[in-house]
Amino acid sequence: MSDKSVVIVGAGHAGVQAAGRLRELGWHGGVIIIDQESHAPYERPPLSKDLLKPDAQDDSALLRKASYFQDKDITLKPATSVLQIDRQKRMVALSDGSGLPYHRLVLATGSSARKLTIPGSELAGVQVLKTKTDALTLKSGLIAGSKVVILGAGYIGLEVAAAAAARGCNVTVLEFQDRVMNRVTSSVVSHYFQKLHESHGIRFAFGSAASHIEGDGRAERVFTTDGAMFEADVVLVGIGVVPHQGLAENAGLECNDGILVDENGLTSDPYVYAAGDVTRSICPFEGTSRRLECIQNALSQADQVASHILGLEPKKPEVPWFWTIQHGLRLQTAGIQQPEDEVLLRGNPADGRFSVLYLRSGRLAAIDTVGGLADFLPGKKLIAAGVELDRTLAADPGAGLAQSARPVAA
Ligand SMILES: Cc1cc2nc3c(=O)[nH]c(=O)nc-3n(C[C@H](O)[C@H](O)[C@H](O)COP(=O)(O)OP(=O)(O)OC[C@H]3O[C@@H](n4cnc5c(N)ncnc54)[C@H](O)[C@@H]3O)c2cc1C
Repeated sequence: MSDKSVVIVGAGHAGVQAAGRLRELGWHGGVIIIDQESHAPYERPPLSKDLLKPDAQDDSALLRKASYFQDKDITLKPATSVLQIDRQKRMVALSDGSGLPYHRLVLATGSSARKLTIPGSELAGVQVLKTKTDALTLKSGLIAGSKVVILGAGYIGLEVAAAAAARGCNVTVLEFQDRVMNRVTSSVVSHYFQKLHESHGIRFAFGSAASHIEGDGRAERVFTTDGAMFEADVVLVGIGVVPHQGLAENAGLECNDGILVDENGLTSDPYVYAAGDVTRSICPFEGTSRRLECIQNALSQADQVASHILGLEPKKPEVPWFWTIQHGLRLQTAGIQQPEDEVLLRGNPADGRFSVLYLRSGRLAAIDTVGGLADFLPGKKLIAAGVELDRTLAADPGAGLAQSARPVAA
């Protein structure tokens, strides 16, 4: 065995995947993962879904069994932060006072939930949802009859709204924009989900920005800039994430709302890679610079990094995809829609099962599938192929989506 070590900072989806993939691909040197959290590495999606259910097991969402790390000879150092990178000496400084040399360094530091900065944000009962500890705190506050005010109608806010309503809480969602999931989907999907939430008793206030929170030691009232007031026992702040890039920035690596990486996950230093939420790279399907906050991206960038460290051919990039589950209904998205895209409805929302196609210059750029997955894989393939669609066929749910691809001119 070689004494060269790959040091990975962060035991989230990207860090753990990179470690496992290095072993699968035949890396014989050391693999060390350092994470500031003390929980065994766990999955984040269930934190706003299954973990909030009354009967959820605390350990139901581990990324890998504890024995996995031992079996693969991966050293896991929990409850330890990496404080600094010395790129000249190729060493990292750890919070336990020790230093660790690296042959290659992988930054998989993820993102942090964007904090609210208005007066009263520091009161007890006001929280974000990013870690398992956050989820367990939130869960303990979701008591039947309690008043839950959610700031932000994005994925996290809406998933928590659904979980809280299912537990009998009175839920109000305040959203600055005029519809739910405004950043990531079209108005047809937004309105469908808004109605779904309303049918479960959830109230929305759109165009509504929180101005301050009041309470005697604990949050009791949320005020908005337009003078409205909402009583609250729990305030969940779901207003997006920011990349955890301080470590990279301080080490002089190129960052711009994310650590900049190439298609192999390589940063501006040839010995340092990055993967997952913390990165920004050029999306191969659209040629634009993006940060993607999803499991698919974390896993596939981790795979690219491991391949590149071993000098192997990387896998072909996958079309980005994401899912959310709200009130048991699954919305699955592939590709990235833009507000200017042409929107084509396939199927009838009244049936609870439909797809929305987003066309750019006649080509499928993204797809949302609601309540059914039949169109998802064909849609993903059509996005990857970059072919034009026949609009009439594409809008007809009686015809297979794959059939709507226009033959490519010879
Ligand atoms: C509640 C919730 C629900 C989600 N639901 C979905 C979903 O349904 N589908 C989907 O695709 N995505 C979902 N996501 C997003 C998805 O979880 C992220 O895209 C993914 O976790 C990113 O993985 P990562 O490894 O890049 O970062 P993370 O999972 O954030 O892991 C980064 C790790 O690095 C550690 N770290 C950071 N800095 C240091 C340091 N200096 N020293 C040591 N350790 C450090 C952090 O503590 C953390 O453990 C959800 C996220 C949340 C929070």
